[in-house]
Amino acid sequence: MIASSLHYVVHWGRMHELGIAQEILNTALETGKREGASKIMSVHVKVGQHTTVDVADFRFCFDALKARTIAAEAELVVETALPAACRVCKTSFFPTQDPSACPACGSSEVEIMSGREVYVDSVELV
Ligand SMILES: [Zn+2]
Repeated sequence: MIASSLHYVVHWGRMHELGIAQEILNTALETGKREGASKIMSVHVKVGQHTTVDVADFRFCFDALKARTIAAEAELVVETALPAACRVCKTSFFPTQDPSACPACGSSEVEIMSGREVYVDSVELV
């Protein structure tokens, strides 16, 4: 089962890698709990392409934190992308077409974000 919903985690630059890794893990664990999962298989994260952080470092922190949780064997999949937000309904998304329209309400009142945001895109559960 894949629980998919773009979940805004944090603005990268206000927190260090460890804090971000913890926030992402917490988001994944909350999702697992809500869905009644026994195990988290993978966590897909999207980071804005203007983050300056060391992804290897971030992955190391995540791997250290996930031990002894239901995400102990979870793979962290990191993709970079430039997120956008809808001015009308405030939904965050990653534009897949140009010009982009909000996938939630169809509005074209869309604003490109700074690219320093971090999102949990989906969590794979069993
Ligand atoms: Zn919208």
